[in-house]
Amino acid sequence: MNLPHEEYRPILIAGPCAAESEEQVFETAKQLKERGINIFRAGIWKPRTKPGTFDGYGEQAMPWLLQVKNVLRMAVATEVATPEHVKCALQGGVDILWIGARTTANPFAVQQIADALRGTDVQVLVKNPINPDLELWIGAIERLANAGVHRLGAVHRGFSTYGQSIYRNSPMWKIPIELRRRIPELPIICDPSHMGGKRELVAPISQQAMDMGFDGLMIESHYKPDEAMSDSNQQVTPDVLAYILSLLVIRENTASTEDISLLRRKIDEIDIRLIELLARRMEVSREVGQFKKEHNVSVLQTGRYNEILEKRGEQAASCGLGSEFVQSIFKLIHEESVLQQTRFINNK
Ligand code: PEP
Ligand code: MN
Repeated sequence: MNLPHEEYRPILIAGPCAAESEEQVFETAKQLKERGINIFRAGIWKPRTKPGTFDGYGEQAMPWLLQVKNVLRMAVATEVATPEHVKCALQGGVDILWIGARTTANPFAVQQIADALRGTDVQVLVKNPINPDLELWIGAIERLANAGVHRLGAVHRGFSTYGQSIYRNSPMWKIPIELRRRIPELPIICDPSHMGGKRELVAPISQQAMDMGFDGLMIESHYKPDEAMSDSNQQVTPDVLAYILSLLVIRENTASTEDISLLRRKIDEIDIRLIELLARRMEVSREVGQFKKEHNVSVLQTGRYNEILEKRGEQAASCGLGSEFVQSIFKLIHEESVLQQTRFINNK
């Protein structure tokens, strides 16, 4: 993986969110291998949001991974979050370790992992931290590099946001793009499974990642996704994975196509945010509707309407936008807002 990007593009890593049983691990890996995948992933220590949920079989699952390595001759990857995990994984002969998003966000934990890796030659992938903080991501990579870990890669799995989104973790593509600019030789792998959080999004996100020149994909795959003990909604069968991969268009890595798709992705991302913001604005409008109803105030307040148009026009001009253009957008927004309030007041 520390070879030039083009030769290995795309690096494919696939396997279940978690190792759940000897059979599930082996059968999934076998089906993946038959479909051309050579790097198998499975979490054995799972960082779960809530206590009392399945958090992996730990050391007990290590032999299951090793069977995949030794019998199927696949490279195996697992997540480590503590020096004990590192020790156990290295003793077992795990080929690739990854640091999960929650751990990357914790410099103490990353430093302990880096110290435990001193003097080894294992491949380490650093997932982005859960919060959109590029410096924290780079900081974790630097901690490992400073400890002598030289086979490094990054995994872009998206960032937590509050409120509704089509994504489980928002891609915020500009962050990995900036990572590439800052450390051009670092391979970046996209994890569309944790980003999308649902099966339908795996293919389009994978294509976006390829269009942006990412080096590989890490995709969750399970032989029986509906029965998965974690992340069931986003896992696909090896068959579906093979189909998704067969549809991928790997475009030439020329500056012009990459640049334009990069710009288009930025526009897509901004548009998604615009829509999310509009949805949030309408939500607040309905709350205003509730208030007006309770206080017996009429929906259309002309004073407020004029104030909005005037203010937004001025704000637009100060950002270099035409005030008439922005005012016409706000006329539409206000119209929709009044409509929603009227509907709300009359329905309840
Ligand atoms: C995982 O890869 O299963 C995982 C827990 O990912 P993340 O750290 O990206 O949430
Ligand atoms: Mn998972």
